[in-house]
Amino acid sequence: MAAGSNYHLSRIASYHTVTMYTLKPEIAGERLIKKLREKGITDEKVLDAFRKVPRHLFVDKMLYAQAYDDNALPIGGGQTISQPYVVALMTQILQLGRDQKILEIGTGSGFQTAVLSQFSRRVYTIERNRDLGTLALKRLRDLGYQNVVFKVGDGTRGWVQHAPFDRIIVTAGAPAIPQELVDQLALGGRMIIPAGDRNIQDLEVYDKRETGIEKTKAGSVVFVPLIGEKGWADPGRK
Ligand code: SAM
Repeated sequence: MAAGSNYHLSRIASYHTVTMYTLKPEIAGERLIKKLREKGITDEKVLDAFRKVPRHLFVDKMLYAQAYDDNALPIGGGQTISQPYVVALMTQILQLGRDQKILEIGTGSGFQTAVLSQFSRRVYTIERNRDLGTLALKRLRDLGYQNVVFKVGDGTRGWVQHAPFDRIIVTAGAPAIPQELVDQLALGGRMIIPAGDRNIQDLEVYDKRETGIEKTKAGSVVFVPLIGEKGWADPGRK
């Protein structure tokens, strides 16, 4: 499964005069987990999920050496695999349980999807970029994640056929909260979504209760834009 997993301070790519060296993924992964703990991730189940998902297999081979740094990395099409700390923080805030049905908007590389799939009955994930989504789905299937249901589409409209969802996670920055997503959240459910302007967003958390919707904030983040009918306008469309 883990291509490159038998490398220990070994050469992973050599081209022209440039040679990259990296730690064995398990060792680099433990270092990352230590860093996540230091930054305030305390949920052992979340940290354990990071132990199980090989992040280097969600990026291009050229980026293997950086896969366990706490940074976002390019995945093509102008998109990114999110910073591990932000993935861990959003997952921790979701307070996931085994029997939950999760909707993820913005599959990207599939890394967050794989983390979510460790916890839940089923993860429904939507990606608007067909190439990225197809690659992510292949990766998830190759790695054996069976409880993931994927489609290409505009996630700002949710996935009404499978609603309601116990948890909704949006991994791109919205200008405002799409009402469809609030409507598709189950009673007792929680949604996390970065919202604000294009350059910086607040991580907003919505809890749907009998008494109404309760909103809290969990800090500032920087995400690529959520593009769609209820998101930012598509820059490629006139
Ligand atoms: N969670 C991903 C990961 O772990 O790799 C990172 C997601 S990346 C920061 C944001 C993704 O949202 C991009 O792949 C982008 O194409 C996608 N996206 C943007 N607007 C979308 C929309 N309306 N519906 C679905 N996906 C969208």
